[in-house]
Amino acid sequence: MAEKKIQSIRGMNDLLPTESALWQQVEKTVKMILNSYGYNEIRTPIVEDTGLFKRAVGEVTDIVEKEMYTFNDRNDESITLRPELTAGCVRAGIEHGLLYNQEQRLWYFGPAFRYEKPQKGRYRQFHQFGVEVFGLEGPGIDAELIILTARLWKALGIDQHTSLELNSIGSLEARAEYKHALVQYLEAHKEQLDEDCKRRMYTNPLRVLDSKNPSLQEILNNAPKLFDYLDSESKNHFDGLCQLLNNAGINYTVNQRLVRGLDYYNRTVFEWVTNSLGAQGTVCGGGRYDGLVSQLGGQATPGVGFAIGFERLVLLIQTVNNTLKNDNTIDVYMISSAELIEGKHTTAIAQQLAEKIRDIMPEKRIMTNYGTTNFKKQFTKADKYGAKIAVIIGGNEALENTAVIKELQTGNQYALPQEMIAEKCLEILEKGE
Ligand code: ATP
Ligand code: MG
Repeated sequence: MAEKKIQSIRGMNDLLPTESALWQQVEKTVKMILNSYGYNEIRTPIVEDTGLFKRAVGEVTDIVEKEMYTFNDRNDESITLRPELTAGCVRAGIEHGLLYNQEQRLWYFGPAFRYEKPQKGRYRQFHQFGVEVFGLEGPGIDAELIILTARLWKALGIDQHTSLELNSIGSLEARAEYKHALVQYLEAHKEQLDEDCKRRMYTNPLRVLDSKNPSLQEILNNAPKLFDYLDSESKNHFDGLCQLLNNAGINYTVNQRLVRGLDYYNRTVFEWVTNSLGAQGTVCGGGRYDGLVSQLGGQATPGVGFAIGFERLVLLIQTVNNTLKNDNTIDVYMISSAELIEGKHTTAIAQQLAEKIRDIMPEKRIMTNYGTTNFKKQFTKADKYGAKIAVIIGGNEALENTAVIKELQTGNQYALPQEMIAEKCLEILEKGE
C-alpha cells in the first residue's frame, strides 16, 4: 500500500526555481540600495521567548490575540515563531549593547509567521525585508527611510504603482487623550458598529479606525481626528518630515485614519500601498517607535523602521513590471561525447574547461551535460536552458587538444585550441551584453 503523501503546512509555501531567480534579483536590488545608504544586516533567531512579542507588539493586537504560532518547548518554556522582526531586532540590540547612546542603521530579511486565513498576498509563513534605525530623533531619518523606499520602487519598476500614506499618531499621552474622545464618539454610535469594532472599542480603540467594513466608513470618517490632539513636538516633527519629503519631490497623502496595527508606534506612521494587488494592498509599513527600547528593558533610545512584505513586493513586480523576470538561463553549456580516447576522457576535458571558464567569469552560469552522449539531444538541452554558447568536445577535439564553440544565437561555429576557450567565451558574452 502506498504511503500517504505528506503535504506542506497550509499557508506555508515552497519557493521553487520558477520564482527563486526573481526573488534573488529583487533581494539583490534591495540589498544594494540598503548598502548604498550605509545600512548593515542583522540576523536574529526565528524563535523568541513569547513574552517578547507580548510586550513589544502589544497584548491587544491581532497578532498577539490570534495570529501567533506559540508552543511550549521540551522544557515547558513558551516560545513563538516570530510574527515580525522588529521585536527580535530590539531584543538583540539591547542584549549586545548596540543601542544606548549609539546610532545603528540595520536591515534584516527573513521569514515571519502569522496564523491568518491564507489568500493572495497573505500567508502563514511570509518574508519581511525591513530596516530599523536607532539613536536618531529628528524627522531627517524618517524622511530618509521614505526616500530610500521610493528609490527602491523605482529600481524595481513599480514606482508608478505605489503611493505613500502618511500620518502622525503623536505621543503616548496625546493618544491617551484622543482615545478618550474617540471612545466617547464610538459609544454614541455603538448601535451601528459591528462586533469587531464593539470589541475593539475598549481594548484598542484606535484599531477601530482601521476597519475596512464599508458600512462603517462614514461614521469613522466623521470620528474625532487624532491629528487635532497631537502634542506640539509631534506636530513639529510631522511638519519637518513633510517639508523634507516635499523637498525630495516625494508625493504623499496624509491619511488621518492610518494608525497601524502594532502598539509600539508613535509619531510618524506610513504605508506604501498599491491598487494592483486587490485587498492585500499594503506593500510596506513603518513608523517611529521611540518607546519600544525602554519598553523592552533597555535605556530609552529613539527608533524608526519599516517592513516590506516580500511576497507582496514580488507579486506587484510580476503584475506590473514585465522587464524583471525569473531568469534561470545558462550562459555556457558544455557538450561532450563522454568517451575515453587514447587516455583522454572528453567529459573530463569538458569539466576542466568549465572550471577555467568559471575562473574568469565567476558570475556566469556554466552547465555541463551528463547522461546522454547523443550530440543532437545535448544541443536540444542547451536550447532548453537558454544557453548562449555551447562548447563541444568530441573524440577528434580530445585528440587535437581543441574544442568547438557554437554561438547558439547566430549558429556560428568554429574550433579553437582548448587554452583559448575560456577567453573566447568571455569575449562573446561581453559582446552580447
Ligand atoms: P495587513 O493589514 O495586510 O494584515 P499588517 O499591518 O498586519 O498588514 P505589518 O505587521 O505592518 O502588516 O507587516 C508589514 C508588512 O508585511 C505588511 O505591510 C505586508 O506587506 C506584510 N505582511 C503582513 N502580514 C502578512 C501575511 N500574513 N502574508 C504576507 N505578507 C504579510
Ligand atoms: Mg495583519
